[in-house]
Amino acid sequence: MKRREFIKVSSLFGTSIAVSPALMLSGCAARPLPGSGVVSKTPTICDMCFWKCAGEVYKEDGDLWKITGNPDDLHSGGRLCTRGTGGPGAYLDPDRLRTPLMRVTVNGRQTFQEVSWDEALTFVSDKMQGIADTVGPERMALLHHGAGGHHFLHMLRAYGSNSHAEPAFAQCRGPRDVGFKLTLGESASSPERTDMANANCIVLLGSHIGENLHNAQVQTMAEAINRNATLITVDPRFSVPAGKSKYWLPIKPGTDIALLLAWMNVLIEEDLCDMDYLDQHAIGFEQLAAHVRDYTPEWVYLETGIRPETIRETAREMAKAAPATIIHPGRHAVWYGDDTQRSRAIAMLNVLLGSWNRKGGFYIPEKVDLPKYPIPEYPKPKFSTGDAYPGKWPFANQGVTNGVVDASIGEDAFFKGWMVYGTNLPQTLPGIADKLKAAAESLDLVVVVETMPSEMTGYADVILPECTYLERYDDLRNSGERHPSLALRMPAFEPSYDSKPGWWIAKQLGNRLGLEKYFPWEDYADKIDWELKQVGSSLEEMQKIGVKNFPRKRPLYFREGQPVRFHTPSGKIELYSQQLADKGFDPMPVYTPPDPVPNGFYRLNYGRMPAHTFGKTTNNPLLFQLSPENQLWVNPLVASEWSIENEEYVRLASPTGVVSNKIRVRVTERIGPDSVFMAHGFGHRSKRLRLTAGVGADDSELMTNIKIDPIMGGTGMRGNFVTFVKEQSAGDKR
Ligand code: SF4
Repeated sequence: MKRREFIKVSSLFGTSIAVSPALMLSGCAARPLPGSGVVSKTPTICDMCFWKCAGEVYKEDGDLWKITGNPDDLHSGGRLCTRGTGGPGAYLDPDRLRTPLMRVTVNGRQTFQEVSWDEALTFVSDKMQGIADTVGPERMALLHHGAGGHHFLHMLRAYGSNSHAEPAFAQCRGPRDVGFKLTLGESASSPERTDMANANCIVLLGSHIGENLHNAQVQTMAEAINRNATLITVDPRFSVPAGKSKYWLPIKPGTDIALLLAWMNVLIEEDLCDMDYLDQHAIGFEQLAAHVRDYTPEWVYLETGIRPETIRETAREMAKAAPATIIHPGRHAVWYGDDTQRSRAIAMLNVLLGSWNRKGGFYIPEKVDLPKYPIPEYPKPKFSTGDAYPGKWPFANQGVTNGVVDASIGEDAFFKGWMVYGTNLPQTLPGIADKLKAAAESLDLVVVVETMPSEMTGYADVILPECTYLERYDDLRNSGERHPSLALRMPAFEPSYDSKPGWWIAKQLGNRLGLEKYFPWEDYADKIDWELKQVGSSLEEMQKIGVKNFPRKRPLYFREGQPVRFHTPSGKIELYSQQLADKGFDPMPVYTPPDPVPNGFYRLNYGRMPAHTFGKTTNNPLLFQLSPENQLWVNPLVASEWSIENEEYVRLASPTGVVSNKIRVRVTERIGPDSVFMAHGFGHRSKRLRLTAGVGADDSELMTNIKIDPIMGGTGMRGNFVTFVKEQSAGDKR
């Protein structure tokens, strides 16, 4: 379907129904205590963020009572975080997508119409077959986020395409993983392989652990603080971890690389590096020593605003605790477009301290050796995702979402079809509105698989409603971690309305495309049972226990004195990167000053809040109750200059004139006068998200200055500026 108009999903149901939050919440109150009924529990894996904590869903007489952590889950410490305990809100949310929807034109106007699963799936599979027959299956791309995306990636590969991209790469941890891989031959892993439990010094650079709840990481960091481990937080904002730190370094935004190089300068000049470790494992130390010689604390002070004595003192603290020192790799690592180099500098600093794969630094993650379910080999695609943007980003080791979008615009575009699973691209890709519209104009097919009527659904030809994680099987959790374990997600409830599990949707599409041999299971439970039986367990056992821990087969850290081969071309840690030099990049990180703040504008900083995971949870009635809106942190000097009161609602504008929804101001000294700060994930425009639509501001739509990392394609988002648009009166928050 060409000339696809964006459809507000509300149009489906006629006029959007005004509803009070109190009314929506009334259906979501889980009972605080069981009565006299029969209590049962069902294992699950939390899907409120990517951390995958194992939980247990308690029911009384079949009705939802509560959800808790699985006490046997070492990965989560047996607990769920705030968001995790709000999981039932996802299941109970009355705004959930209920039935398949298809774009139709009525009286010249495009709208969505409810259709049967058969009609929706047949339409999608016919279109996919058409793309395969005319231009080849590789022209169909999957854009995905979350564990359920694997079902659709499997279907896509069976169909003949391996074209796929996750925002988790180019909009999040990609620069970090590429930077670590270039240096150490492997990534910092997800979940991060930081040995917080044994660390004596932890350095956070723009990482807000405690605001961004990654359950076990928060728990082990709290334990480290209780053990008097030294916490050093580098952040222009007085964040939650800054408040727990021995050192808070309120750095000038955009100057992290300068500080990292100065710390390396101090370690080398004061002979504080772990030379035994470096001699044994690394190459390029001499080049690095020469490279950082000019990055003295005195010079770097002028760039970062961090005093030379503080730079020296904190470097000595790190060295004193080494190798039990962690310079945390962070997670959301897309800052100023030189982010792979920033992450490389973090990896290199850890190497100078000898903390990689040493106790108290980083550990070696291990998975359970789980045999793969036997299916035929996938057909070999003629093109990879990167062929859609040839010559760009040579070290992108995954698909680049922004590259896929660019390659989907125009009559001659590489991609002809999209399947979008579990990711709300308008809020996830910064400043993408115009390009999304252009791609929607060009593509022959846009399918969205979702649980909620997100903004992305407005671009779809077909919306396929997935049931929530509490109503479905997914793949076993088998993450690389300290303690190898398997965890089970299974349905605690039948799917509500006419929603279906992702595995079922993928299989049905596969069957219609003649790919039955890739989907030999009647029920996904059969596949999981087969896998479990290969490692001495069974579905029956896991349905009772939810989590099974396995002994490690490999050491947790390097064995001292034993040779190690790193997965780099040299087999060593590469402080000097010949790989980068060969492609024309700086072989060692170089500091470039950030763009100055234009007059009358402020840096737009963004982050997370404990109750929400991006925009995915802001309509969740239970979590909405905890944190209904985001706030804009404004320094008192700035507030005074603009005559802005605390609690007042303002709008923000980008230099190109994009104006945000209203957002409530929090006047606070915890942020400097050159920046403002907000939590990401608010400012939804889809009116079917009845609790959260129009509440708060969306940082990503204000981002008009995106700096693409030339090494791996990440979208640096921190070089954006905003100014205030004052309202006549504070008014309603919507
Ligand atoms: Fe769920 Fe919280 Fe664990 Fe994320 S960290 S999976 S939201 S319990």
